[in-house]
Amino acid sequence: MLIIRPIAIIWALPYTILGLLIGLFGLCTRGRVLRRWPLEFYGGGVEWFLSRLPSDLVMAMTLGHVILGRTKAALDISREHELVHVRQYERWGPFLGPAYWACSLFLWLRGKDGYHDNPFEKEAWGE
Ligand SMILES: [Zn+2]
Repeated sequence: MLIIRPIAIIWALPYTILGLLIGLFGLCTRGRVLRRWPLEFYGGGVEWFLSRLPSDLVMAMTLGHVILGRTKAALDISREHELVHVRQYERWGPFLGPAYWACSLFLWLRGKDGYHDNPFEKEAWGE
């Protein structure tokens, strides 16, 4: 369980707003929300959104203080991993997206895997 800190909420807010918009889209399309902190949305339009991401099978993803999952089971499986990403958003704030993608691009240019070799993912996988 994460401690709710106002400064961390504000710092991650740009991504949280994006996550909320996708989550609300999910709620309008038969999706569900788990009323917990951070907020977790699944099903409906959220499942549709995640299924259209370029990676093969994205079960869940984190945007600020919002975790999006294909299903409730997907959220249960990936929660620990996604909570590490929440902490990364709290640390990096608006810079997380550019830093993450810069790492992926750098790794890709060096012939490595932009996802599995990415230090943000490695931290989330406990490597
Ligand atoms: Zn991850």
